[in-house]
Amino acid sequence: MANENKLQAIIGHCKEYGYIFQSSEIYDGLSAVYDYGQYGAELKRNIRDYWWRSMTQMHENIVGIDAAIFMHPTVWKASGHVDNFSDPMIDNKDSKKRYRVDHLLEAHAETLSEEAGKALIDTMEQLLAANDFDGLRTLIMDNGIKCGVSGTANWTDVRQFNLMFATQLGSVAEEASEIYLRPETAQGIFVNFLNVQKTGRMKIPFGIAQTGKAFRNEIVARGFIFRMREFEQMEMQFFVKPGTQKEWYEYWKEARMKWHLSMGIPQEHYRFHDHVKLAHYADAACDIEYDFPMGFKEVEGIHSRTDFDLSQHQKFSGKKLTYFDTDINQHYVPYVVETSIGLDRTVMMVLSEAYKEEDLSTAEKQDSRVVLNLPPMLAPIKLAVLPLTKKDGLPELARELIDQCKPYFKCYYEEKDSIGKRYRRQDAIGTPFCITIDHQTKEDQTVTIRYRDSMTQERIALSSVRDLVMDKIKMF
Ligand code: ATP
Repeated sequence: MANENKLQAIIGHCKEYGYIFQSSEIYDGLSAVYDYGQYGAELKRNIRDYWWRSMTQMHENIVGIDAAIFMHPTVWKASGHVDNFSDPMIDNKDSKKRYRVDHLLEAHAETLSEEAGKALIDTMEQLLAANDFDGLRTLIMDNGIKCGVSGTANWTDVRQFNLMFATQLGSVAEEASEIYLRPETAQGIFVNFLNVQKTGRMKIPFGIAQTGKAFRNEIVARGFIFRMREFEQMEMQFFVKPGTQKEWYEYWKEARMKWHLSMGIPQEHYRFHDHVKLAHYADAACDIEYDFPMGFKEVEGIHSRTDFDLSQHQKFSGKKLTYFDTDINQHYVPYVVETSIGLDRTVMMVLSEAYKEEDLSTAEKQDSRVVLNLPPMLAPIKLAVLPLTKKDGLPELARELIDQCKPYFKCYYEEKDSIGKRYRRQDAIGTPFCITIDHQTKEDQTVTIRYRDSMTQERIALSSVRDLVMDKIKMF
């Protein structure tokens, strides 16, 4: 399937099967804002749990917190977001459409040969690293890049736009102070560094993890839930002794890639992209990119942030944010290696990987199915229980099985339509296991289990169902 078609097919499927809806759809939607439906919310929660447990349960030296979205406005001054959290943009004077300069050049690079495209991206990265806005504009002009709407190359100068949303805290206008919706979750961790270190008696190296909403006024938001204005991040800041950050950076690069592969996604769908232009706080940075239907794009960033954030907060708050290292009898401001992954982008990655249109035609008949091959541990529904008929006590047996299983994992009961149709509906939702209860069940206490991916079926003991599913959905 062509990539653009695949993206459209996934968007359509998400809507049809209760995964993801456009926000405020009955009012024609709100651009780049999405709502998760009944299955999407479960999938998202399962991915969040998997990340959270991988960090805070599987690492004895990582703890999780939940900081507020609103923070003191000086936080964003100290972090550099007020002055630096902006993207170079360019407007087309005819269409009045605004583009992110890197997106415009990247899109053009994709239309060129591999070699020419790479040369263009290299030049762009050098210009971005040097903040050379005139050079970027010249690059756009020299390449004859035109606006997709007006079809002209009538461009403004390149300018910076801040991406933070501002709002008022306080009910009386004169007394209200302007605050920001956080554009990343990381700062909630930095300002709580000492609270957690002291109360948790944490010894370096240790990490603080957090998941939560972040907000960015993305100028060009596109690609479904890839780039949203309200989204969720899963971040972990790992505090280390100065001088050891390179080792920890390499450690987390490898550890995070392993996490991705543990979801059953093949290595060739991932690649690392090392940054040439480093953010103002970083001494090394890379992205983990996944091969989305739109091509390889960032899903996670790994950044060695030095002692920038803690030092800045120390300076702006006037409070000491140092750690006393008993091994060397010294106080220091720790260095930080962070892993920062977008939850919504991970949902999109998992869905892109799972979505399959399969041709099942035989010589006798045409047939096909749409299936989501989600990893069982992430699937919204783990088990569907389907009585063959609505009578003869079969629904009662099905209900008994559900009652036995539902304290442990999410089940679904369905008695309408033929078994074949019900299987296909569960395939489309991504349910890994279906159990059919039939008349034989009443005689010998066995059921048919049907596996989503292979579509094979086998007869197993009713009493073994719960443990079998539990075994297949375990995360660790
Ligand atoms: P991009 O270059 O795509 O704008 P970024 O480098 O600004 O991303 P970070 O600031 O490193 O992103 O944020 C960490 C992660 O948060 C990203 O890897 C991505 O998964 C997620 N993320 C960032 N911006 C968005 C967004 N607008 N919508 C959805 N997820 C996002």
